[in-house]
Formats: sequence, C-alpha cells, structure tokens
Amino acid sequence: MVNMPGTGTETAGVLTEIESKELVKQAGIAVNETFLAASAAEAASFARRLGFPVVLKIASLGIVHKSDAGGVRLGLNNLREVAAAYREIMAAVRSKCPSAAIQGVSVQKMAPPGLEVIIGMYRDAQFGPVVMFGLGGIMVEVLKDVSLRVVPLYRRDAAEMVREIKGYPLLCGYRGQEPVDIRSLEDMLLGVSRFIMKHPGIRELDLNPVLAYCDGALAVDARVVLG
Ligand code: ADP
Ligand code: MG
Repeated sequence: MVNMPGTGTETAGVLTEIESKELVKQAGIAVNETFLAASAAEAASFARRLGFPVVLKIASLGIVHKSDAGGVRLGLNNLREVAAAYREIMAAVRSKCPSAAIQGVSVQKMAPPGLEVIIGMYRDAQFGPVVMFGLGGIMVEVLKDVSLRVVPLYRRDAAEMVREIKGYPLLCGYRGQEPVDIRSLEDMLLGVSRFIMKHPGIRELDLNPVLAYCDGALAVDARVVLG
C-alpha cells in the first residue's frame, strides 16, 4: 500500500468502513453491523445498544490502515472502557495523523474468534476485475499465498480458489481446531463476483479480515474504492 496513514492524499473515491459495509451488505455479503459515532457519548450509547464486548475504530477517509494509526480498540467490556478507548483513539490518531479529517469512530460488536481470511478485488490492466482469496496476516503480506480468478466466478472457480492456497490445510482444521465452513467462503467469493459485475464503478474492494467459522463467515472490516 502506497498510502501512509493520514497523509490525506488519495482519498478520492474511497468509502469509509461503514459506507463500504453498507454497500457490500446489499450484495448479500455477510458483514457485522457497524455504526458511526461522532462523540464518546454517542459511542457509549451504540455500545449499550449492541451489547458488550464492542470494538471502536477510527472513522476517517484519510486513514487506510486504522490499526497502524492507533485507531482500533478491541474487546471493550463496559461503558468506562468505551469512553477511555474513544479518548485514546482520538489522541493516538491526532498525534500520528495530524492532517487526517476525523468523522468519529465506528462502533461494532466484538466478533467471536475465527480464522482470518482476506477476500479482495482489484482491476488488472490486462484481465479486468480479479478476485483474490488468501489467509489473513503474514500469509498474504509476507508469503503472498493467494489465489486469483478473473470475474465472473462460477462455483467451481470459488471452490478451486479456496483449495489451491498453500494454507488450505489450516481451513480444514489443525491441532484440534474445527474445520471452517468452506461453502460460506465460496459463497462470499461468488457474492463479490456478482457485486462487481453489477457495479462496474467499483475499482477496488477489500474484506480484510473475513472471520471464518465452523458455521458461516463474517467480514468485520471492509474498504471499497470507487472510480
Ligand atoms: P485495519 O485493517 O484498518 O487496521 P481492522 O478493522 O481490520 O482495521 O481491524 C484490525 C484487526 O482487528 C482485524 O484484523 C481483526 O483481527 C480485529 N477486528 C476488527 N474488527 C473486529 C471485530 N468486530 N471483532 C473482532 N475482531 C475485530
Ligand atoms: Mg482490516
């Protein structure tokens, strides 16, 4: 990623986490419910409504990597922790990214732990829209263990994509872990493909991470770029 957190450049066409989630949700892709709070009091009221534990994340168009900017706080268990996290996020982001325009924070439920995978889409100059699948974290960033297919995807493509990454055995359960619901990952890949077919104005899409469970999968971060 060329963009450093908070440089304030390259925000044209970039949707926030909340806008991105709303858009992909319409396409039938499972995302967690996420609200925008413009103050600590508003964050607290959403948290009360959602039930604890919750997650707070910085909401700013100029900040692509929210964690790098000190903008993500997980597992907040009560209103006091929410209020403190709000203050800490604002302080961290203002010092690390002084030029970023801040909308507030997003508030969402802390999802149960799952295996983190990444589903993305970018436009290749030669092939056009390409869907990407990989395991989260270092598996993608360092090992580049991803599978790619040109849109439109069919069930067979989605099934192959999930199975051809080197990390596939991790999806099948290891060391007593339960296997994840591979069918729901295939469904999500197909959902992304349909979404891209329907919306040619989408330049880039990132669901990172998608939490894969033994029953279902859920995107807890999303980023859409239009244009
Ligand atoms: P960014 O990618 O911009 O740094 P994310 O929204 O992906 O921010 O959050 C960073 C990490 O926090 C995720 O990779 C995931 O491990 C964890 N996380 C984010 N949202 C949730 C959530 N709702 N429930 C559980 N874990 C989460
Ligand atoms: Mg992310």
